[in-house]
Amino acid sequence: MTDVSMRILANRARDVIVAEAETLTALDQAIGDGDHGINMRRGFEAIATEADALAELPHGQALSKAGMKLVTTVGGASGPLYGSLLMGIGKALEGGASLEEALGAGVELVKKRGKSDVGAKTMLDVLVPTLAALERTADQPTPARISTVRDAARNAREATRDMRATKGRASFLGERSIGHYDPGATSALLLIEMTLDVWGEHP
Ligand code: ADP
Ligand code: MG
Repeated sequence: MTDVSMRILANRARDVIVAEAETLTALDQAIGDGDHGINMRRGFEAIATEADALAELPHGQALSKAGMKLVTTVGGASGPLYGSLLMGIGKALEGGASLEEALGAGVELVKKRGKSDVGAKTMLDVLVPTLAALERTADQPTPARISTVRDAARNAREATRDMRATKGRASFLGERSIGHYDPGATSALLLIEMTLDVWGEHP
C-alpha cells in the first residue's frame, strides 16, 4: 500500500464519513450527545481540503499532519483521540515501522490519551482487535489478510452493542448504554473498511 496517494485516502475518508454522518450522529444520540457525525465530518472535511498538500508529503508526515488537523478542528473527544491515532501511526511510519507496528503505536497513543483500553465500549474495541488481526496475518498474502482483518473489525464493532460503557459520555448511562452500538467503534469500522478497500485496489 506504500504507493497509494494520500489524496485518495483523504478523499475517500471524507466521502465515507460524509455519507455516514447521520448514522454516526444517530448512534451518538442514543448513548451520547448526538454530535459524533458532525464532529467527524468537520474533521475529515478539513483534512480533505488539504489533500493535495498532504499528497506531496511522505505518508508518515502526511498522517501526522492530518492527525493534528483533527485535534485542532474537532471539539469532541473523538478529535484528540483520532488525532492521536493518526499522529501515532504517522510518527511510527516516519521511523520506518511496518503497517502493524505503526497501527500499534497509534493505538497505544489512543489508550494513553483516553486513559482507556478494550472493554470500555469505545473505538478501542474495534481498533485493538483490528490490530491483533493485522499482526496474526502478517505472513499471509494481502487478499487473505484484508478479508481476515475486515471480519475481525466487523465482529468487533458488532460486539460493542452488548457492552456497558465505562469511558466517555456513554458511561454516564451505565447499564442503559447496553443494546446500542458505540458511535466511535462504528466510525473506526468505517475508516478501517475504507482503508482495506483502498489497500485491495492498490495491493
Ligand atoms: P464526545 O463524546 O465528546 O461527544 P464524540 O461524540 O465525537 O465526542 O465521540 C464519542 C466517541 O469517542 C465514543 O463513541 C467513543 O468511541 C470515543 N471515546 C470517548 N471517550 C473515549 C476514551 N476515553 N477512550 C477511547 N475512546 C473514547
Ligand atoms: Mg458526542
